[in-house]
Amino acid sequence: TQYKIQSIRGCIYRVLSLLDSETTRLGHQVRFEHDERDIHMLMDQDKMLQLLLNLVKNAFEAMPEQGIVRIRLFAAGPHAVIEISDTGKGIPESELDKIFIPFYTTKDSGTGLGLSICHKIVQDHEGTIEVESVPDEGTKFTITLPTSGTNE
Ligand code: ADP
Ligand code: MG
Repeated sequence: TQYKIQSIRGCIYRVLSLLDSETTRLGHQVRFEHDERDIHMLMDQDKMLQLLLNLVKNAFEAMPEQGIVRIRLFAAGPHAVIEISDTGKGIPESELDKIFIPFYTTKDSGTGLGLSICHKIVQDHEGTIEVESVPDEGTKFTITLPTSGTNE
């Protein structure tokens, strides 16, 4: 589909504005931290939006009380790193290797497809996605993506 060189920061800001009213309605906070320099990469923007929306929605669903989602974007050599962390209920260590499997869900009305789609989107962009979690403290997803070498 449509791969173009685009701003990752701009893509994250679009996600924040798409989620703005839901964030307010749920009483959560979303904080976005980024380097001064923007980072560009060859991306399918619709897929990248879907990836980030899925991750932030999972974060919201993991926070029954008002919580904080922190998104960090930074450059690491030829890569961009996006970290999405939440203050939610966390994932038990024994479940961590199952969450990317299609149809794995712990929710009454979950599809269990969100993270398997995220994994596919990251792979399509030649990146990696990793998860760390501490039960009752929160979860952090780290996405590493190759950049286009046209950063400014
Ligand atoms: P769904 O959201 O439909 O359950 P996903 O593939 O998006 O499916 O997620 C699979 C499972 O991974 C969830 O049911 C949940 O148990 C766990 N999970 C995903 N993201 C988080 C998160 N941020 N915090 C806690 N658990 C999570
Ligand atoms: Mg989900």
